[in-house]
Amino acid sequence: MTQHFDYICLGAGSGGIASANRAAMRGAKVLLIEAQHVGGTCVNVGCVPKKVMWYGAQVAEAIHLYAKDYGFDVSVDNFDWNTLVASREAYIKRIHGAYDRGLESNGVTLVRGYGRFVDSNTIEVNGEQYTADHILIATGGAPIIPNIPGAEHGIDSNGFFALREQPKRVAVVGAGYIAVELAGVMQGLGSDTHLFVRKHAPLRNFDPMLSEALVDAMDESGLQLHTNSTPESVIKNNDGSLTLKLANGESYDVDCLVWAIGRRPSTDTIGLEHTQVQHDERGYIITDEQQNTTQQGIYCVGDIMQGGVELTPVAVKAGRLLSERLFNGMHDAKMDYTHVPTVVFSHPPIGTMGLTEPDAIAEYGAENIKVYTSGFTSMYTAVTSHRQACKMKLICAGEDEKVVGIHGIGFGMDEILQGFGVAMKMGATKADFDAVVAIHPTGAEEFVTMT
Ligand code: NDP
Repeated sequence: MTQHFDYICLGAGSGGIASANRAAMRGAKVLLIEAQHVGGTCVNVGCVPKKVMWYGAQVAEAIHLYAKDYGFDVSVDNFDWNTLVASREAYIKRIHGAYDRGLESNGVTLVRGYGRFVDSNTIEVNGEQYTADHILIATGGAPIIPNIPGAEHGIDSNGFFALREQPKRVAVVGAGYIAVELAGVMQGLGSDTHLFVRKHAPLRNFDPMLSEALVDAMDESGLQLHTNSTPESVIKNNDGSLTLKLANGESYDVDCLVWAIGRRPSTDTIGLEHTQVQHDERGYIITDEQQNTTQQGIYCVGDIMQGGVELTPVAVKAGRLLSERLFNGMHDAKMDYTHVPTVVFSHPPIGTMGLTEPDAIAEYGAENIKVYTSGFTSMYTAVTSHRQACKMKLICAGEDEKVVGIHGIGFGMDEILQGFGVAMKMGATKADFDAVVAIHPTGAEEFVTMT
């Protein structure tokens, strides 16, 4: 017998869970459908396990680079990859439990299985059919593997989190968030790490100060960055090692190769052809500014949305706002996709929000922007022989010097940005920043003392 709901959320990742819970809290009868683990990419093979690994690398840095100059006579005999992985997985299990309890207490029905549209208001899972007045597509994305000979010998970010042994020599291919973060983690934990980027630099679409400072920090850490390096093929050798061959004729032997060259939306096998939902040639779903797709009653949030921002908190916010609109009478509720703060958990971390300097020049004209910068050694490392640079930049536009870009790389930048993000979202000017008394000694104070 077909069961009817007010709202079906297809996909229990960040966007789907957030939207389902909020809808149920507003009184809707909600069904949430998930084929894999609750929590989606973020909790299972993304933000959460990555951050744990990043903290692991931070511990390694503290021991190997800084402890001695702080007076600790530390000697470490071993790093056990599997202990770190076990701690990480236990933590994720606890998060699964918290999600399950949250869904249960809100009265959300969870069905495990792969859901597909049968028609525009019916989803089939495990042979059962469910109908709803409103259906949210929140199926997220998956990593891309390049179409070159031997690519299957490499792993993607999902494979990275499945590793049960630390590779001695690792190649990471890609130039975005995931490549930079995983390469930094591997180098920090002691693998001989190579990062291959096909253009001149990693994170080349970020503000140039960030990309340049990151390259300096990578050099300092011993990570081997190979620029203008396009993979051509991968060969698996008899001893299990891999040889990565590049288009420039160079080749490198490693024990593990991680592809981190981008992701694609998981929208190709959910039966969209049985609806009027339109998507572009890459599978990204077309929506209006209130998450409506081209089929009435079907909505979409998260990494599958054309022109969206592929970040967990963006999907969460969009999912909640959608539920407020559908089930709480907030007819105008819509996600604001401008000025989204974001952090890259590189070593050291990067925080960035708003326009890069080249984009600000393009938008306002060079004569209408003023750029303030600061460079210093993080105090945490200043008393050690391994000094780590911090670089910060404010980009201001117009006569009132409205802050339109804020960028930083260095110790603590991951935690610094959120508060400044509030100021920027409120339209703060440089004078507003300067009106705040600095907190000393911190890295954050640089943002309110730049001249
Ligand atoms: P990205 O799209 O950010 O970066 C992938 C990059 O790899 C491309 O920009 C491109 O850079 C390079 N690339 C593409 N194709 C190839 C190829 N064939 N060979 C070599 N290099 C190639 O993807 P990610 O997978 O890193 O991340 C996906 C998204 O997930 C991000 O956009 C981000 O929004 C999100 N994310 C957020 C995190 C966070 O908030 N901390 C962490 C991880 C992911 P180029 O053109 O310069 O070569």
